[in-house]
Amino acid sequence: MKTLYDRPRVGGDILTYCGKCKMELAHVVMAMVDTKPKRVMCKTCRSEHAYRKGGGAPGPSRKRSPSSPRVPKTVILASELWQKRLDERKSGEPIPYVPTHLFAKGDCLNHPKFGLGCVEEVRLAGKIIVLFREGEKILIHSLPKPNAQ
Ligand SMILES: [Zn+2]
Repeated sequence: MKTLYDRPRVGGDILTYCGKCKMELAHVVMAMVDTKPKRVMCKTCRSEHAYRKGGGAPGPSRKRSPSSPRVPKTVILASELWQKRLDERKSGEPIPYVPTHLFAKGDCLNHPKFGLGCVEEVRLAGKIIVLFREGEKILIHSLPKPNAQ
């Protein structure tokens, strides 16, 4: 079964140790370097800190020889990715978020609480993953409309 934790990605969730809460908690990936999370924000205490792999214990430090060529790293910030998504969607107004609307991947929506977001993924069982300024959220969509007249 796919979960939010399958692969780290900017704006996505990751389970890691929070030094403030002193336990392993869900964090939002705020920045990534290449494919590795760089900065994360605790969803519980909202504090931002560097991502440490594992349960807080520092792993074996890899020594890099100073002569090794420096490979340029790709840094992706969640806020930049979000901005990019919105820029790509300049045409058309964002759709006001209502759970009965059927959203598609790439749709831009306006959520009353989270603000502007872009649909990153459509999941089964009426769920969508939306990238907001503060990270990804799972929302419901395509709910059957109540029998209105
Ligand atoms: Zn915390």
